[in-house]
Amino acid sequence: MNDITEAMDSVKLGLSLFSDAIGLANSVKNTLPESKEKDSIEKSLFEADKAAKLAEAQIANALGYTLCQCTFPPQIMLSKGYKDTNYRHKEEFVCPKCEKSSIPPPDKPINVPPAKGYF
Ligand SMILES: [Zn+2]
Repeated sequence: MNDITEAMDSVKLGLSLFSDAIGLANSVKNTLPESKEKDSIEKSLFEADKAAKLAEAQIANALGYTLCQCTFPPQIMLSKGYKDTNYRHKEEFVCPKCEKSSIPPPDKPINVPPAKGYF
């Protein structure tokens, strides 16, 4: 393991703890009575959560993970093992949110005969 990977792991751990703290703050916030302060706490927690997810995605990207752009901040696509494609096995990455695969469906055939009634 090299220095950069170790540093990334530390940052990742820090971010994970930060996300946990946001989660705890969110549950405490829910017990507060409705007020202007509660609204601004809610807004700040939302922004902090978004920033943490964005930082997490940037770290994942730096570590070579594929990102899915179905949301912002982007989702981190995770490996589902190898998939048998036409000519070889390919590692497949799947988005945990929209379940999009990194392996696109086969291309539509070209030179298909025109639909009936075309001529
Ligand atoms: Zn997605």
